Amino acid sequence: MSAVGKKLRQAEGGHLMFWCPGCDAAHAIVVDGSRGWTWNNNPAAPTFTPSVFVNKGQAHPGVPVCHSFVTDGRIRFLNDCTHELAGQTVDLPDWPGGYS
Ligand SMILES: [Zn+2]
Repeated sequence: MSAVGKKLRQAEGGHLMFWCPGCDAAHAIVVDGSRGWTWNNNPAAPTFTPSVFVNKGQAHPGVPVCHSFVTDGRIRFLNDCTHELAGQTVDLPDWPGGYS
C-alpha cells in the first residue's frame, strides 16, 4: 500500500482507499473505470463518481451500510447509511496513523 497524498492510499489491483469516519474503516474503490468509478486525480481534494455504496442490502450483518458521495475532498453521507453520520457532510479525513 502506498500513500497518495495525505488522505488516500493505493493498494494492489488499482484500488484507491480512503478512510470513512462514518464506518471508522477504510473503503476501497477501483478507479481505473473497470468497475464504474473514476476520480479527479486530485489527492488533496478527491472526487469519486458515482457514489460509493458499501454493504448494500446489509449483506454483512454487523457492518454499517454506507452510501456516500465523495466530492472535492468532502464526504456526503446519504440518509440510507446506518451509521451516525447519515445525512451529514464532513471533510474526508487524513489517513489515520497506525494504518500505513
Ligand atoms: Zn463508510
